[in-house]
Amino acid sequence: MTASAIASNDITPVPGPLPGPPRMLTGDRPTGRLHLGHYAGSLANRIRLHRRYESFFIVADLHMLTTKNSPEDIAAAGRHAADMVLDSLAAGLDPAHSVFYLQSAVPEVAELSLLLSSLVTVPRLQRIPSLKEMGQHAGQREMPLALLGYPVLQAADILAVRATAVPVGRDNAAHVEVAREIARRFNRRYGAVFTVPALVPADVPVLPGTDGRAKMSKSLGNAIYLSDPPGEVAAKVRRMYTDPARTTAGVPGTVEGNPVFVYHDAFNDRPAEVAELKERYRAGKVGDAEVKEKLTGALNRFLGPIRERRAALAADQGLVEELIVTGTERTRREAKRTLADVRAAMGLTAALAGFRRAARARGAVPGPPGQAGP
Ligand code: ATP
Ligand code: MG
Repeated sequence: MTASAIASNDITPVPGPLPGPPRMLTGDRPTGRLHLGHYAGSLANRIRLHRRYESFFIVADLHMLTTKNSPEDIAAAGRHAADMVLDSLAAGLDPAHSVFYLQSAVPEVAELSLLLSSLVTVPRLQRIPSLKEMGQHAGQREMPLALLGYPVLQAADILAVRATAVPVGRDNAAHVEVAREIARRFNRRYGAVFTVPALVPADVPVLPGTDGRAKMSKSLGNAIYLSDPPGEVAAKVRRMYTDPARTTAGVPGTVEGNPVFVYHDAFNDRPAEVAELKERYRAGKVGDAEVKEKLTGALNRFLGPIRERRAALAADQGLVEELIVTGTERTRREAKRTLADVRAAMGLTAALAGFRRAARARGAVPGPPGQAGP
């Protein structure tokens, strides 16, 4: 297919296959433990949605390689994967409704990604702003091929398990749009194999860091982790950035965009307390120390049950590992089926089958196992 054929309007919908069970796919790269930003930005939404679907949670270690591929990064991915699954379960994902799997252990996904890559053009991918940002964030001056192909690999993740729904934040919506285009193009060109996945937009807030920077992030060192013990939460909150113009408690302060109040709004289960603190803060009638002390209390009330569940799950030795192994095997079975359908629809299986028949007729190649040779 020429680039112009790919770029042309051959994405008009054709009837897809009969819809399978509602399935959701989402996940993260195994780069560390989960923090409050992950909770606000994606985990809370997953917890809310996951029981309505068969939910697949990818531990995207191949995606990690697009910006982090040192032997040390790769060696740490296993520990990070276990931590992330543990954090997710502790926060409220139900293992009975969740399939956790390791992307690199499902090689069919990589093959599918290669097959799908002929259905999208380089300029289409270059127009996605988040990819450029990811490269810059990772300190890369030039775009690695794998990073440019990130949305294609993500399309393979989604389509391999025939996900019907993909919850996404703003930064990822453009990637899922590519997956939808690829699915439609594939169906049109080779036959209806894929249900076009629906984008489930999650208008989730970006949680600022404890240092006041716009985003809480592991690599910025400004995160409060779901697994932080109470004393560590207290220490991080004490050091938190607030309104810099407020030199003493008597100076009226700004609440909007002030991370201490952003966290109060997101995690404090006592709205009356938050409203009262805001009023006194604006009037210069409360010190930062009290606002922070109440925030520590709120965060520890929120994290307490998560910590307890985390400890109980961790004490059940091998549980998380078992979930990842059985989830990966389950996903591999799904991906194998999809890949077989894809290869058959594309006509990729026909040539070798013909060669085999001819070779077998000559007596040079044995028949399939269990069948007497000619
Ligand atoms: P790194 O510093 O290595 O980039 P990170 O802490 O930014 O790590 P990611 O692994 O990049 O975490 O985040 C994965 C996903 O989690 C993001 O795409 C986003 O959906 C969500 N997320 C992460 N941090 C936040 C945040 N502060 N607010 C809202 N969502 C977040
Ligand atoms: Mg990040």
